[in-house]
Amino acid sequence: MSGFGYLDSDHAKMQRYIARGWCALPGPYGAACSNEQGVSHRYAHYDSGDDTSWTDGWEADAPDPVLPEQPDDIADDSHDYPDPRRAADRVNAFISEWGDGLVDQVGEAGLYARDLASLARFTLDTLGPQVDEPRGDGS
Ligand SMILES: [Zn+2]
Repeated sequence: MSGFGYLDSDHAKMQRYIARGWCALPGPYGAACSNEQGVSHRYAHYDSGDDTSWTDGWEADAPDPVLPEQPDDIADDSHDYPDPRRAADRVNAFISEWGDGLVDQVGEAGLYARDLASLARFTLDTLGPQVDEPRGDGS
């Protein structure tokens, strides 16, 4: 396995293939087509480096995304939320590593460190600090 996700492109490989006059169309897991451009492979592509073949429209066959691990041992398919004080502690730990400013942006929606800090501060001011209490799993 190349280390690339299903929909990831290996741009360095694509550039090498383009320089050689090869198709270079991206395929799954960072594959790129090593067939010569325009030579009888209009719908099926092949990467000789990875011994991978694919057809046009391969992106539609992407596997379901794997949900990231949830905090506080919450099951991925649960609608439960973590304890807000522990969540606030994690947010504060993240902000202390990240610093100030924009954390991420998706479309028009920006996530700012000070928004997170404000919510964490409100949570801890409202609920008080986390009191050591058994979590039920012995940790
Ligand atoms: Zn191709």
